[in-house]
Amino acid sequence: MVDGRIVSGPNSIAGEWGHNPLPWPQADELPGPKCYCGKFGCQETYMAGTGLERDFREQTSRDLKGADIVAAAEAGDMQAEAALQRYEHRLARGLAAILNVIDPDVVVLGGGMSNQGRLYRNVPKLWGAFVFSDTVVTPLVKNRHGDSSGVRGAAWLWPAE
Ligand SMILES: [Zn+2]
Repeated sequence: MVDGRIVSGPNSIAGEWGHNPLPWPQADELPGPKCYCGKFGCQETYMAGTGLERDFREQTSRDLKGADIVAAAEAGDMQAEAALQRYEHRLARGLAAILNVIDPDVVVLGGGMSNQGRLYRNVPKLWGAFVFSDTVVTPLVKNRHGDSSGVRGAAWLWPAE
């Protein structure tokens, strides 16, 4: 959004962040998981809730849903905590790349993972290492209309009657 308007771009792909590769990949993140788009290591394969679940399953051989991983971490499960820390570090890198290109006034998270309050505390502590600025003042905030705001926005494209 720029000046209150959606920017779609000539190819209608503005904001299609998820199918860019994870920035500043670590050795164990290459080539990355295969994405449904056909490429490897797309951010989508890490940042979606299913990405957290896959990472946790690969690292622990345990099969938990995203919300259960968060609950386990809160209960002191070190494997779950480590998975969330990996998730937050990846999200911080991914968002830092956005900040470096468009330096937005605010970053709003959507999707199911946006319900995890710890992201808003932890990710801004991590992204400064990757943003090309001595200080980063950009707020990272939760959406106001729920984790399916993309669907809500699509519905608003049609008149109510
Ligand atoms: Zn992809």
